Amino acid sequence: MGAGHAGLAASHFLDERSIDHVVLERGEVANSWRRERWDSFRLLTPNWQSRLPGHHYDGPDPDGYMTMGEVIAFIERFATLSRAPVRTGTTVTSVRRADGGYHVTTDRGDYRCRTVVIASGACNLPSVPGFAGAVPDSVEQLTPFGYRGPDQLPDGGVLVVGASATGVQLAAELRRSGRPVTLSVGEHVRMPRTYRGRDVLWWMDASGVWDEPFDRIDDLTRARRLPSPQLVGTPERTTLDLNALASMGVEIVGRWAAVRDGRALFSGGLRNVFSLADLKMRRLLDTFDEWARTHGRDAEIGPPEDFAASRVPERARLQLDLRSGEIRTIVWATGFRPDYGWLDVPVIDAKGLLRHEGGVVDSPGLYALGLPVLRRRRSTFIHGVEADAREVIDHLARHLAVRGGA
Ligand SMILES: Cc1cc2nc3c(=O)[nH]c(=O)nc-3n(C[C@H](O)[C@H](O)[C@H](O)COP(=O)(O)OP(=O)(O)OC[C@H]3O[C@@H](n4cnc5c(N)ncnc54)[C@H](O)[C@@H]3O)c2cc1C
Repeated sequence: MGAGHAGLAASHFLDERSIDHVVLERGEVANSWRRERWDSFRLLTPNWQSRLPGHHYDGPDPDGYMTMGEVIAFIERFATLSRAPVRTGTTVTSVRRADGGYHVTTDRGDYRCRTVVIASGACNLPSVPGFAGAVPDSVEQLTPFGYRGPDQLPDGGVLVVGASATGVQLAAELRRSGRPVTLSVGEHVRMPRTYRGRDVLWWMDASGVWDEPFDRIDDLTRARRLPSPQLVGTPERTTLDLNALASMGVEIVGRWAAVRDGRALFSGGLRNVFSLADLKMRRLLDTFDEWARTHGRDAEIGPPEDFAASRVPERARLQLDLRSGEIRTIVWATGFRPDYGWLDVPVIDAKGLLRHEGGVVDSPGLYALGLPVLRRRRSTFIHGVEADAREVIDHLARHLAVRGGA
């Protein structure tokens, strides 16, 4: 279910084992990239990292970052090469257990199948806090799904909420458009774009940090909820952390906690939030240094680098009057969540997430791919799906064999 890169990778391995299957997709191949990203979007993972089973980037700029059009073309090409049996324009409206398998209802007919692979994405809906409903009507509200570019916003101040990859990227773009931008910052993951001359994601890959398996991670629930790193993919390979944003004139405020009488109330304690992010970044960079040293790579890589501490604003505002006209638009970059409204199998936990063990869902014959830290830290990324899909489809094949042949 789903013709993003995860569903297509599942199809690749099913085909390899001659397991009869179909890929149901409500829109087109790579639908999320076509419909749910903004115009200037680029991947934050470098081109050389865009690799899927039997298909990888082979263009002239391995260290660059794909534009949205390039990502769509890359995934479309994968679908064509792997001859995935995709039925586009087919929305799954229900999946329920039936006769030892599943009954799948779509808006274009029903299917009976022995197994289902849920590859419908981890980011189907933007997560917006409940107090958004208390924001005065005079302020326009947008999520990254509705945001295309600065031109669509009214002139005047913008409050961007959330300082992970999406929030920092949109704050920078809106600031460059000449608007006053305020950025509300909670817990975040700080990363330099490059470290010791290499892309920070090269380090994540080479040092094995990204390969850490889910069953060896101490606090898996936390790892699965970790926000995306503050990274942007630009031809200049710039670092886009809070210091860079402050230098551009973005005003930093604390985590948005509530709305009272038309005022946004922000948490204090930015100093703690900043020092925690700095500390975690340093720990990660130390892990890289240790790996380089123990693997004899120090000579070929630049020397260890230090980064300035995140600059804590002198007097961060604790509230902002949303009725004053200072803020004309709020952009909620507060994360995304999956939508399982169509799933009529009791496998959803109290947080609305799928109960699974490394992609093996808590219902025989039901599988998942493309969720955060599904089987390893890199699971939701494009280059993370190959190993996950191979292992999940291995399990699926064993399930079919036990139940009497595929
Ligand atoms: C803002 C953002 C930036 C990202 N940047 C990067 C990056 O730089 N590098 C990287 O490697 N990864 C990045 N990712 C992560 C990841 O690559 C994407 O989330 C990716 O789209 C996940 O692939 P997927 O196949 O699991 O899900 P999706 O691409 O979301 O595919 C799921 C498919 O299922 C379909 N579907 C959903 N519900 C139904 C239904 N009921 N019936 C039929 N079809 C259905 C959807 O239409 C969609 O086509 C980013 C994610 C986001 C949100």
